[in-house]
Amino acid sequence: MSTPIPIVAALGNMAQSAWLDALAGAFAAAGLNADVAVFDGRARDARYAVVWLPPPELFTTETGLRAVFNVGAGVEGLLTNPALPPDLPIIRLVDAGMAPKMAEYVCFYLARATRGLDRFGGPQKLRDWNVDRPRGTPPAVGVMGIGAIGAYIARAVTVFGYPALGWSRTEKRIDGVRCYAGADGLREFLAQSNFLVNVLPLTNETENLLDAKLFAQLPRGAHLINVGRGGTIVDADLIRALDSGQLGSAVLDVFRVEPLPREHPFWHHPRITVTPHLSGPTPREPAAAQIAEAIVRLEAGASPATLPGFVERARGY
Ligand code: NDP
Repeated sequence: MSTPIPIVAALGNMAQSAWLDALAGAFAAAGLNADVAVFDGRARDARYAVVWLPPPELFTTETGLRAVFNVGAGVEGLLTNPALPPDLPIIRLVDAGMAPKMAEYVCFYLARATRGLDRFGGPQKLRDWNVDRPRGTPPAVGVMGIGAIGAYIARAVTVFGYPALGWSRTEKRIDGVRCYAGADGLREFLAQSNFLVNVLPLTNETENLLDAKLFAQLPRGAHLINVGRGGTIVDADLIRALDSGQLGSAVLDVFRVEPLPREHPFWHHPRITVTPHLSGPTPREPAAAQIAEAIVRLEAGASPATLPGFVERARGY
């Protein structure tokens, strides 16, 4: 019998034992002989780490890591870890069941907004039968960031008859989605987006991208749904755009500071719906299966850069 592969887990405030069970099940199913232990500050010569917002000590203690697996799609929290070795390959999750959940979330709020159900606490409160009914041309939904999750969301909204647009850094072709790319495509993309869904990662380029100038390029009264990262939005500009009527409403699932501070104006703004970062929870079993598959490939000699979810540090995602 081969020596078990030593793996360390540092999963922050995630349910450790449920994750360890999921990893053990996935490793067994993949035929991997692995020994997974929770990081306790002591070195165990781990070959791989499975992490969510790990403490810097993980990297100063486990110095022989060959790759680190991020239990989520967004890696900005890991990339800013002060002890992260510059050459350590990072593999993030690709969809792993998050995309359908996030598409469901977006479609729920589209259904709500297009029926006027978000006004005044909803028609039931007012015993009002005279609400909006979506009989006209469906509003267009523009998705910023059409990677693993954004592309799924864009396709999902077309199922309900919404014209879908997508915007990315590099050119894309997605059936049924009008795609735009880069700074050149942004103006045209925004001018048509009645609903703007943000699924961009937080990088040097996307930080503060959604500001007054960008909101001004949307059709008047457009709605914003942010499921990407809070740091892509200039909070004060969003409030001003809502107060002026340039934006009709905003549904925000992610924030610059989380948990959203109790005194933050987003909590009680009449045109803002706040949800506590719940649109795309990471389903444990598919996530663990994705990690197991990647380890099998690495153990067979694959280069980390060839794996789905390999993070290109220079671009920040
Ligand atoms: P991907 O890396 O698959 O996709 C990212 C997309 O953003 C790509 O289309 C990419 O363009 C585009 N993009 C990145 N930078 C720029 C830029 N400067 N200008 C234009 N487009 C850009 O990521 P995922 O779809 O897996 O995840 C996206 C984000 O969603 C995560 O980073 C995370 O922040 C967030 N998320 C939120 C969750 C929640 O619960 N709210 C759960 C999961 C993820 P290109 O295609 O050209 O590379």
